[in-house]
Amino acid sequence: MTPHCLICESVAVLSKENANTAVMLIGTIESVLSSMNQDSPPFAGGIRPQARHESHLVQFLELLGDGISAAIAGCSSMVAFAQDVQKYQFRRYDYLCLRCGALFNQDSSSAPHNL
Ligand SMILES: [Zn+2]
Repeated sequence: MTPHCLICESVAVLSKENANTAVMLIGTIESVLSSMNQDSPPFAGGIRPQARHESHLVQFLELLGDGISAAIAGCSSMVAFAQDVQKYQFRRYDYLCLRCGALFNQDSSSAPHNL
């Protein structure tokens, strides 16, 4: 069941767990994109001359693998960032309304904290 905000009734509510997942996903995407920028740009300027025999898909998968490896290597910093998001954005609450900023718990049917 999708939680609704107790103040504005919006369904744009983010749970702590989903925020953690979003942070980890953003960190992984950032690592993949950084990895792609460090190598010669196979898609911006065409196929790398030395790799013309490879398909674009193979080159993309190699770059994706490099990015995921970098993300895994930087996992501890992403975990620390995710913990800061939970600490400073959610505090002791389970949900954050992205529309009005209300913080509330699963079991609080009243008295949400609009900060
Ligand atoms: Zn709200």
